[in-house]
Amino acid sequence: MTEASKADVNQAVMAAKAAYQGEWGSYNVGQRVDMLYAVADEITRRFDDFVTAEMADTGQPKAIMTHAFIPRGAANFKVFADVIKNVATESFQTTTPDGLGAVNYAIRVPKGVIGVISPWNAPFLLMRWKVGPALACGNTVVVKPSEETPMTAALLGEVMQTVGLPNGVFNVVNGFGPNSTGEFLTHHPDVDAITFTGEAVTGTAIMKAAAEGMRDLSFELGGKNASLVFADCDFEQAVEGIYRSSFLNSGQVCLGAERVYVERPIFEKFVEALKCKVEGVKHGRPDDVDANYGPMISHEHQEKVLSYYKNAVEEGATVIVGGGVPDMPDDLKDGAWVEPTIWTGLPETATVMKEEVFGPCCHIAPFDDEQGVIRLANDTPYGLSTTIWTTDLSRGHRVAAKIDVGITWINSWFLRDLRTAFGGSKQSGIGREGGVHSLEFYTETRNICVKL
Ligand code: NAD
Repeated sequence: MTEASKADVNQAVMAAKAAYQGEWGSYNVGQRVDMLYAVADEITRRFDDFVTAEMADTGQPKAIMTHAFIPRGAANFKVFADVIKNVATESFQTTTPDGLGAVNYAIRVPKGVIGVISPWNAPFLLMRWKVGPALACGNTVVVKPSEETPMTAALLGEVMQTVGLPNGVFNVVNGFGPNSTGEFLTHHPDVDAITFTGEAVTGTAIMKAAAEGMRDLSFELGGKNASLVFADCDFEQAVEGIYRSSFLNSGQVCLGAERVYVERPIFEKFVEALKCKVEGVKHGRPDDVDANYGPMISHEHQEKVLSYYKNAVEEGATVIVGGGVPDMPDDLKDGAWVEPTIWTGLPETATVMKEEVFGPCCHIAPFDDEQGVIRLANDTPYGLSTTIWTTDLSRGHRVAAKIDVGITWINSWFLRDLRTAFGGSKQSGIGREGGVHSLEFYTETRNICVKL
């Protein structure tokens, strides 16, 4: 991997600033919209290239790429093009002592150069989700993808060149975070705002960097998400939903459920059913059509996940399934494999009940009453997402309103409409992105007052 130096980052930021003040800054909304539609079409044309690159970087099964992570690429650019095309701003008529009055109206202007820092778990999805609205609003970007997964950002650069995006509007710098490219980017004084997806600890470091020059921030951080399964749920639907939310992408999903609470009458049946599903997992290469399960992103992350597995047992967990490294054929033995794991029997104070593992695991605990399980769900410094499984929709609405998270799903998971607000509460994030909510971060509202 190439590691962009301070000088390289400076060159990228200066190119972004020049484009913002130059050709891109002179584009009107209609021209930007046309450009974003062209980007979307070119991503669709090169769909297979994106799938191949993302599989190579993450090791995850092809089906996840083709069904979930890549298809949104094109849609994302179109959604934000449509948002910016249709946006309206406020205006007020003001009374004045002379009786003639004044008119106030607002205009939205881009912020300038946006630093985009993205993680490795869904690299293309999480990066373009920020690039789309940033460009729609008229900003320029410098993107730093994760050092683990740089390829789709480079491909997006090729797409931008093919469609004729002016030079300097979309820039990519590769490298690590601390004392490296990420830090050089966040400390650069000509970066006007920073949008970041990653760990809360990294967010703290970036927040300190952004304090220099009072730059604005948008953060999408980790979670310790709870799922609440009521006895009146559609049982098969709930088992399938929790299976996906705890184990999709080998558990490396910020929105995934690592804490599952099941109402006591169906607790044992639920644990058994989820165990059966997990036992059906087949690890393998991304392009192996018989496999449905990939490795951890790196050996470093594998070790981290396995250390949580060890810790859970030391703190009293009953291992229902998994808990170690799967036995793999010789040609795959050196992969960063871990078994999907289910625990029961841990106290709420256990480490894996508090800290985000970001691996394929969940703890299942029984609960007896609605108020009690709401308290448990909220007993975390995080507040990203939750799922509620019940056929009693009154209860679903009632419970959803009391859970302190940015997004609650009732009888589903990972169902995202790009026009809706997305973000986390508490230590899971700052701000909301998605649809018109993205405008709050990627533009500034200016008021113009005209005396009549
Ligand atoms: P990370 O914080 O380690 O790294 C994310 C990015 O930040 C990488 O590009 C990295 O190089 C960069 N970085 C690291 N230190 C930096 C520094 N000091 N200055 C500038 N940049 C720095 O996160 P990760 O391990 O790549 O991703 C996993 C985490 O991301 C999990 O906590 C997960 O929950 C979270 N996540 C959140 C969301 C969300 O939408 N809320 C989505 C996906 C992932």
